[in-house]
Amino acid sequence: MTGRAAGAGLALALMAGMAVAQAVPDPGGAERPPEKPVQAEAVQPAPAPPEKPAEAAEQPADDAVDATPPLARPDSTPAEPSADSSEAEAEPEPETGNPGSDAQKPVGRLIPPEETAAPEPPAEPKGPPVRETLRESDFDYAACLLALHDLGTVYEEIAEISQPDQRDCGIARPVRVTAILPGIALQGGAAMRCDTARSLGFWMRDFVRPAVARLPDAPRLSGLQLGTTYDCRGRVGDEAEAKLSEHAFGNAIDISAFTFHDGSSLPVEPRQDSGDLVESFQRAVRGAACLEFTTVLGPGSNASHNDHLHLDIAARNGGWRLCQ
Ligand SMILES: [Zn+2]
Repeated sequence: MTGRAAGAGLALALMAGMAVAQAVPDPGGAERPPEKPVQAEAVQPAPAPPEKPAEAAEQPADDAVDATPPLARPDSTPAEPSADSSEAEAEPEPETGNPGSDAQKPVGRLIPPEETAAPEPPAEPKGPPVRETLRESDFDYAACLLALHDLGTVYEEIAEISQPDQRDCGIARPVRVTAILPGIALQGGAAMRCDTARSLGFWMRDFVRPAVARLPDAPRLSGLQLGTTYDCRGRVGDEAEAKLSEHAFGNAIDISAFTFHDGSSLPVEPRQDSGDLVESFQRAVRGAACLEFTTVLGPGSNASHNDHLHLDIAARNGGWRLCQ
């Protein structure tokens, strides 16, 4: 037994020694060299793996990760991807998932075409500007000028009027009138279409001048005080909307007062029920105006016309006239 015991003791001792040797490193690990070499060895291998994995990670990133590739390509073709950033981003990403680099390039190429397509906006191919649709033929224009001559209108032909910021506005063949009839001035002169001047002349000659003679003391008409003449603007009053006013085409003229040789004047204003000759005069000339013009508005039509007569030659279907 003893021999066995001794053997067992040796075995135990060896075991213990080994155990001790193994256990020892922990407490005094720093002091003993064997431990250090072990650690040193472990350290050496350690650095190597990290480096390898790092490299491996970089490579796989490019190859394996689908999401990253799109980014890398934009770099290869910087100009194209950058421009289309917003629109292109959404579509290209899903497509890149399937095929690799080849699919991405096509996507980037498709974008530029879209940009080139942008200039497509086919402007605003409407019809010709209203100004042009109202341009008088040579015959009609000559006939109109002859009428002005017969009326004794003082006028001059002036250059076409146009509005850079509003293609429809303007007058193709305007005349500037300074006296609608001999001795009856348009204060400051006014540009308008010849047809407008002719209607105004006929109205003044056949109705206004005779009516003025019926006023108390039979004053002599010397002129018209004008409101708006040519003006590129939208309609006003109850019809206010985006539609352009007839003033924008030289078709309209506003009259705010009749002036007389004695220096007095008769303003256009609400006169209903005043029961005097002046009310009758204003009613008479206003009513007669619709024999020459297709639109007549004034006091009572709406708030914006309480201080003047609006007369225009707007063309309407069936020759309908708006007389208020
Ligand atoms: Zn007007």
